[in-house]
Amino acid sequence: VSQVALLKKAAKHAAIALRNISLHRPGLCVICGYAGLFYAFDSADPHENLLCPVCRSVSRQRQIAWQLLRLLNLNGTVRTQAKDGLRHLDVLDAGGNSPLSRTVGTGPRWIRGAYSADGRVEPGFTFVDLQSIDFADKRFDVVITEDVLEHVPDLGAALSEIARVLKPGGFHLFTVPYYPDQATCTRAELIDGRVEHRLEPAYHWDPDTQSPILVFSDIGCDLVERLDEVGMDFTVLNEARRPAWRLLGQRDVYLSRKRP
Ligand SMILES: [Zn+2]
Repeated sequence: VSQVALLKKAAKHAAIALRNISLHRPGLCVICGYAGLFYAFDSADPHENLLCPVCRSVSRQRQIAWQLLRLLNLNGTVRTQAKDGLRHLDVLDAGGNSPLSRTVGTGPRWIRGAYSADGRVEPGFTFVDLQSIDFADKRFDVVITEDVLEHVPDLGAALSEIARVLKPGGFHLFTVPYYPDQATCTRAELIDGRVEHRLEPAYHWDPDTQSPILVFSDIGCDLVERLDEVGMDFTVLNEARRPAWRLLGQRDVYLSRKRP
């Protein structure tokens, strides 16, 4: 990386730091253990976006990490538990470039998943198509997906595949835009390899590929029954009392546990 590029990056971060200066918050990162100021780079939604300058996590990603540690009865941070409690689990993180997975690293038991249309992924990552997961039944204790399910063309296939690869008692921890007051709305379908739009196309920004990614479903209340049909029990993790000092934000995290 050239010095010019580094200077440009530093200038960009300084501009962000100055712009929303009243919204920055001091705290401790549950992923990497950083203690200091977290940066509100998007003033519209500071709870969602408070950025850890070390591991680059935002609040939502720390929320997932915190819930993961809590569900496993592990103390401390992901960094400290990576060499301890998390080492003894079989985990599939479908978005393996998350701050969580970057902090844990790749191991035989922690699979960093990635998806690409042509099936090729960077070294250290494993190609994962959630609609057809290339792992044996009952392989994982934990599957993690962060804002991915809405982009999967065949949501039903993804849900049953995640259930299939989980061990009995294992769980799927995820975030997704969820609309519990309505039924799932199919915005687009993939038919013979071609996208057919049912509604005005909606996109989310994919930080990995730096490109927009199509939303196939607005997931609604029938998610609970669909999970039940594949042997999974759904819970919303939205405890009123959260450790605010960890800067977790207000976003709900979802838990779907495979029945023993
Ligand atoms: Zn961090």
